[in-house]
Amino acid sequence: MKFVGAHVSTAGGVSNAPLNAMKIGAKAFALFTKNQRQWRAKPISEEEVERFRENLAKSGIKTDHVLPHDSYLINLGHPVKEKREKSINAFIDEVKRCEILGLKYLNFHPGSHLRQISETECIRLIANSINRTLEATQNVTLVLENTAGQGSNVGYRFEHLAEIIDLVEDKTRIGVCLDTCHLFAAGYDLRTEDTFNETMKKFDSIVGFHFLKGMHLNDAKSQFGSRVDRHHSIGKGNLGIEPFRFIMRDNRFNNIPLILETIDPALWPEEIRFLYSFA
Ligand SMILES: [Zn+2]
Ligand SMILES: [Zn+2]
Repeated sequence: MKFVGAHVSTAGGVSNAPLNAMKIGAKAFALFTKNQRQWRAKPISEEEVERFRENLAKSGIKTDHVLPHDSYLINLGHPVKEKREKSINAFIDEVKRCEILGLKYLNFHPGSHLRQISETECIRLIANSINRTLEATQNVTLVLENTAGQGSNVGYRFEHLAEIIDLVEDKTRIGVCLDTCHLFAAGYDLRTEDTFNETMKKFDSIVGFHFLKGMHLNDAKSQFGSRVDRHHSIGKGNLGIEPFRFIMRDNRFNNIPLILETIDPALWPEEIRFLYSFA
């Protein structure tokens, strides 16, 4: 079974996310559990947690298919110790928000070296930050997202993800989310059956499908291999519809959240229906 949804709004409170998912015909969703552009956030009240759980039950969406995303400010590989500490503390807080909501995953971008340290050093710092976060929390699995490689972001090569995972002590609580736009921008082609299979074969041999906990389904405004992160609506960008047909017909993508982060939320109901028409 496929579980397709979108990164929905939490305007008015996190408890609105499952309702927003329901409205667009989603069987999965992503959300921010706090404002993604601010460091600090009020704790989630007990009433709000209760409402979230009720609305989630009402939506029929299981926690296996909810993929929260962390704040954009967090950089677990920050070269400056003080800044990195701030990020680790904010990240631990994000994991705890997921724990309180009864959620299983937290999706995050690995980090950036800011051209002050090497990629290898940045990867080592990221793994350390992950280990500290796992020690300070319980149950939630941290889901590394592959990046487009824009700016000084690491995580645009499968090798980066594999190196981070290799340094993580508790491998039962680390996973990967593949973003189709980021793959394409990073130079992993998906446009034909052959290139799609080749990319997934590489992913399997370097990282391993058993680590795959979710997908971000985005078409790309950016060019192949450009390392520019610009999403587009499904079928309107440089990826076209084929990669999404391959995903919807491939059992390796069963039972994980398949999340749209496409640019026009008004199209989400249609995009979800369209994707299901392939399954
Ligand atoms: Zn993404
Ligand atoms: Zn992106």
